[in-house]
Amino acid sequence: MYDYQAPEDLLQGKIILVTGAGDGIGRAAALSYAAHGATVILLGRTEEKLNAVYDEIDAAGYPQAAIIPLNLETATETGFDRLAAMLEEEFGRIDGILHNASLLGLRTPIESYDPIVWQQVMQVNVTSAFMLTQALLSLTNDSEDASIIFTSSGVGRKGKAFWGAYAVSKFATEGLMQVLADELEHNQNIRVNTINPGATRTNMRVNAYPAENPENNPTPEEIMPLYLYLMGRDSRTVTGQSMNAQ
Ligand code: NDP
Repeated sequence: MYDYQAPEDLLQGKIILVTGAGDGIGRAAALSYAAHGATVILLGRTEEKLNAVYDEIDAAGYPQAAIIPLNLETATETGFDRLAAMLEEEFGRIDGILHNASLLGLRTPIESYDPIVWQQVMQVNVTSAFMLTQALLSLTNDSEDASIIFTSSGVGRKGKAFWGAYAVSKFATEGLMQVLADELEHNQNIRVNTINPGATRTNMRVNAYPAENPENNPTPEEIMPLYLYLMGRDSRTVTGQSMNAQ
């Protein structure tokens, strides 16, 4: 596991948006950021799951969260602009974005990959992350220390048979991170990086590897050190990096 011990107050006073915050790694990150003092904006497509995370944060006595039910597959530029305006009014700035939501799509050879699924995967995994980032960049500019984290994968660094649109979307995510990090190179207040979580015990992993024993993989909670490190002040000078949580 990535070796980092986060101070308890690491994210005190920070406003952090997490996509796909209702389940899996996004849920763990939202809870962990809140436990370290952040006000977390929970974005996802299944409202009940977001409500459950909101309640957990509330019951633990962490800073009150906010909920944004949004389907990243169908969200439009106008929708993202409206969201940015709402967040500006409510919070005035954004200190962190964890782009975590993703679709696995099909595990099929390219030759027979369904183009409709291809577009859905690219829309959720790449295009919506680009549009959300674009809409929120001026809000991160208002932060003294902002961190944008994209979520990659092992197959986003080396292609593998039958991973289709998912692998291609993760290569594109690495590209998006590198282009944005380079554009913001001279802005000392914003850093941009990717995390590859590695095999982690979630629904997506079970769907990708149904024959595997889930108990052999770490839980989302166990891979949080890198998620905390990259979101907090100790990574201030780190940008343009592709990092591994395990
Ligand atoms: P899960 O499938 O467990 O969780 C994904 C989350 O994204 C869910 O909360 C899901 O919402 C949300 N989501 C999916 N589609 C949309 C959409 N259209 N709009 C809004 N939210 C959406 O996956 P993991 O937690 O395993 O994965 C998290 C990230 O880590 C992903 O980017 C994945 O690619 C990456 N990753 C995971 C690995 C692993 O082993 N688990 C390995 C490598 C990378 P809902 O709850 O409604 O389904």
